Amino acid sequence: MTKRQARPASERQSARRATSEQPVERVPRRGRRRGGAQREADFVVIGAGSGGVAAARRAAAHGARVVLIERDAIGGTCVNRGCVPKKMLSYGGTLAAILSGCLSHTGGREDWGDAIVRVNAEMARLHVAYTHRLQEAGVTLLHGEATVTAPDLVQVGAETIHARRILIATGARPQTLPVPGGELAGTSDDVFTWQSLPASIVVIGGGYIAVEQASILSRYGVKVEMLVRESRLLERFDHEIAAALAEALAARGVRLHFNAEVTLLNQANGAIDVCYRQGAPDGDGNDGGGDRVHTVRAQAALAAIGREPQWENLGLAALGVEKSAQGGIRVDRSFRSRVRSIHAVGDAIDGLHLTPVASAQGRWLADRLFGRRGERADFDVVPTAVFCEPAIGSVGLTEHEAIAAAGKAERVESVVRRFVSLENRFAGSGQASMVKLVVNARSGRVLGAHMMDNAAPEIIQTLAVALRLGVKLSHLRTTVQLHPTVAEELFA
Ligand code: NDP
Repeated sequence: MTKRQARPASERQSARRATSEQPVERVPRRGRRRGGAQREADFVVIGAGSGGVAAARRAAAHGARVVLIERDAIGGTCVNRGCVPKKMLSYGGTLAAILSGCLSHTGGREDWGDAIVRVNAEMARLHVAYTHRLQEAGVTLLHGEATVTAPDLVQVGAETIHARRILIATGARPQTLPVPGGELAGTSDDVFTWQSLPASIVVIGGGYIAVEQASILSRYGVKVEMLVRESRLLERFDHEIAAALAEALAARGVRLHFNAEVTLLNQANGAIDVCYRQGAPDGDGNDGGGDRVHTVRAQAALAAIGREPQWENLGLAALGVEKSAQGGIRVDRSFRSRVRSIHAVGDAIDGLHLTPVASAQGRWLADRLFGRRGERADFDVVPTAVFCEPAIGSVGLTEHEAIAAAGKAERVESVVRRFVSLENRFAGSGQASMVKLVVNARSGRVLGAHMMDNAAPEIIQTLAVALRLGVKLSHLRTTVQLHPTVAEELFA
């Protein structure tokens, strides 16, 4: 930012002192500030999730006057309805399974009510920590529902903020099931509010959330049936890894129905009947068998069929902000919408809807607008994980993507290893893990790495660096392994 726009350090420090002593400002519909009073800001960020918080803190560090507006709890989906509660519940279920396997004479499962208490305590800790860090950075945090009334004006309650730049970081919300009775199915947002669990559940969908929730709930003793529209789980992941995961879930008692198109949900004596039509038999020996209508009854149903960007109620369309075919805000490479002063990042735009992607986009944008031109993260090689059990970690191309890119199957080599980790041998579960490397057959360059094991997300995060640097299979084979680990299987 220019000298004229930057505030002197002394002013910023006194602003910090002032804000760190103040609670978050709540802006009532009828504001307590003088009617029509205008606040001046360099940067108004709407949405205090991963992208919004990262952008706000970085812009404030560059000296910009930043206002961050959130209508709900700070931290967005990741902290309140996604990564944090999901991963903590998954730890609880997994640890209980390992312990009860090892100490089978004492048995016992993790208790859901107790787990939710611990999850809520962590969320509360994060709310305080986030608020404190934002205040320390000098960000003004307002609580309320924002609308954008002009390219440089944001309305929150009775307050109008004049902003040089506006960032939309409002995230996405779960899609509702578009069939009669679809409203009977809950979403992953609801799961984190449950004080007790249903005895049985039908999980609809086969993506990240469906798989994670089915895995977690089955670990807490819920009888789970999955209705998957495709012929496999995790359609966008490597097919062999997805098939191995389906086997692992089935071995744990999760019933999987593939090619299953849900048509109707009905309330039935305190339970829910989910009707589905099943097309061609699936390849995994599950009950396919023609285009027949089936019904599965359970105490609850959960729809995890994707998430849609939420920005319609902000008034942006009237200003000329355009919508993409997928429903996100249309932005250019610099995350700028068709209205020059309005930007958008994270789940509100198209692309990978992952917490670290939103944060990286937000920080890069704040650097670009208010500081030096920052280094852009590599959004082409993004590691990702599914926190089911066993967990899936993945980076780079799947075998199918690599063959499609190369044009011929012979140009791609796949190295697959299946093994039982020491952890699983000790627990006596016999659960197999799997590693798959997708390699350019001619150059030996590793194009993709995919793993199924509880250690996979941690390993894949580090391996992503090697992939970006063009690591070859020969590099992995000539690196001395660290034994005994799960990671060494990548180097064998
Ligand atoms: P996904 O896009 O991962 O999966 C959606 C699934 O629902 C697909 O199997 C899709 O099938 C199916 N589906 C779509 N419409 C219907 C329908 N009408 N009836 C039945 N099935 C349907 O979405 P999620 O909701 O699981 O997750 C949303 C996003 O959240 C993810 O894409 C990811 O970006 C993010 N996320 C990331 C996590 C992580 O990093 N660990 C964890 C959780 C979420 P089809 O393929 O046929 O369309």
